[in-house]
Amino acid sequence: MTEQMESPHVVVLGGGLAGVACAHTLGDEGVQVTLVDRNDYHQFQPLLYQVATSQLPAEDIARPHKTIFREHPTVHVRTAEVERIDADNLALTLTDGDRIAGTHLVVAAGARPEYFGVPGAAAHAFPLYSVADAERLRRHLQSTIHTAPDAPGALDVVVVGGGPTGVEITGALTELMAALLATERISEPGTVTLVDRGETLLSAFSRKSHKYAHKRLTQRGAKPRLGTGVAAVHADRVEFDDGSTIRTRTVIWGGGEAAASVVGTATGLTTGRGGRIDVLPDLTVDKHPHVYAIGDVANIPAHDGSILPQLGSVAQQSGAWAAGNILREVRGEKAEPFHYKDKGIMAMIGRNAAVAEVGRHRHQVEGPVAFAAWLGVHAMLLSGAHSRTDAFMTWAWNYFDRDHAATVEWSGEPERIAWGDETADVPHIRINVVPRGDGT
Ligand SMILES: Cc1cc2nc3c(=O)[nH]c(=O)nc-3n(C[C@H](O)[C@H](O)[C@H](O)COP(=O)(O)OP(=O)(O)OC[C@H]3O[C@@H](n4cnc5c(N)ncnc54)[C@H](O)[C@@H]3O)c2cc1C
Repeated sequence: MTEQMESPHVVVLGGGLAGVACAHTLGDEGVQVTLVDRNDYHQFQPLLYQVATSQLPAEDIARPHKTIFREHPTVHVRTAEVERIDADNLALTLTDGDRIAGTHLVVAAGARPEYFGVPGAAAHAFPLYSVADAERLRRHLQSTIHTAPDAPGALDVVVVGGGPTGVEITGALTELMAALLATERISEPGTVTLVDRGETLLSAFSRKSHKYAHKRLTQRGAKPRLGTGVAAVHADRVEFDDGSTIRTRTVIWGGGEAAASVVGTATGLTTGRGGRIDVLPDLTVDKHPHVYAIGDVANIPAHDGSILPQLGSVAQQSGAWAAGNILREVRGEKAEPFHYKDKGIMAMIGRNAAVAEVGRHRHQVEGPVAFAAWLGVHAMLLSGAHSRTDAFMTWAWNYFDRDHAATVEWSGEPERIAWGDETADVPHIRINVVPRGDGT
């Protein structure tokens, strides 16, 4: 038994799935929490590609942190950029000079794209990690379509990375092209090329799923290009390591991720693969029993010694578990090792096409059954931020089930998720759309 702690104050860096789950669990027990995030809203990453391809407005996948914690008076939200993590003193320094210290520090700062030093990638490729990224890509696609849709290759897109993000955005882009063609906004669809160094799409999945994803994307007009690495990205073309080139103004980067940059400022933390913070089985950092790292920012060990993947369910469960361990400490009990409830891995390829490998034993399913699994898992993920997940489920089934050509509302009002929130709950998203290297 450890000694009981009086009046804990937990400082949480990051209001994504992990940070929100942690603060929620602590707030439920009346613990004082200060949650710091650069945005005043939580963003739901699994639906970013729907925003990028104009199938959902940005507001529908974001929710103000203040609303999320409306019924948790002990959770204080601070909208600010964190400049430095001081693990030794359980404190954060903000860019405005303020310093916030607590009895516990929880780092839940998420990830950023990793360009692996590919020349031009950071300047010219479009990452897809935030609402701002998705909005920037949407505006770029929109301006390309409005300015020169019929110029040769103007609508051609190269997606880098054949994992779930690359596969999902490729599927959504082929639907966008079909919708633009059906509504006569373009006369020729752009080619969507999906590039990966490896020999398969969705490499973490089974062979059956590799084939399914390949077949479905090809049927929709995408061109998977496997066994090929990207050598350089330019404003008007991408070069491959076999010496070939594709002319394109749109390269989407789903090629890898690393820990959020703020981790590089941390003193006293050990980092490993992907620059992520290595944690012990109880999610604390070695030699720092009051510092936790959770979600995408952490290398979280699985029971077999491997590292858990960067997934929404890992983020959410690790957030709730870290809170549980803090509460155990407050009660004078010992921290417990994190036990991940593995619901499987899944990817949505587009309307009527999804693949899922369910549970720890990875039972493979495709089509509507896979989509139902995807929906169940994602509704659960969303439930921490949006109370009305039935609205999300209705929207998602409508999206998935429609058998006619995509009806993407290009510049008007896309179909919305009927959250039914009060007006005050709609986020006022401040999106600083940073231009790319070529000014678009
Ligand atoms: C395009 C895409 C699609 C995905 N699809 C799926 C899917 O279908 N299913 C699934 O399970 N997973 C999916 N994932 C992964 C999943 O979304 C992540 O694993 C999960 O969101 C990670 O949560 P997190 O809380 O660790 O990080 P995040 O959600 O990234 O939250 C980190 C927070 O920290 C804040 N922050 C970072 N640095 C600072 C700073 N210096 N100052 C202030 N604030 C800061 C950020 O603003 C952000 O709000 C997807 C990811 C992406 C990018």
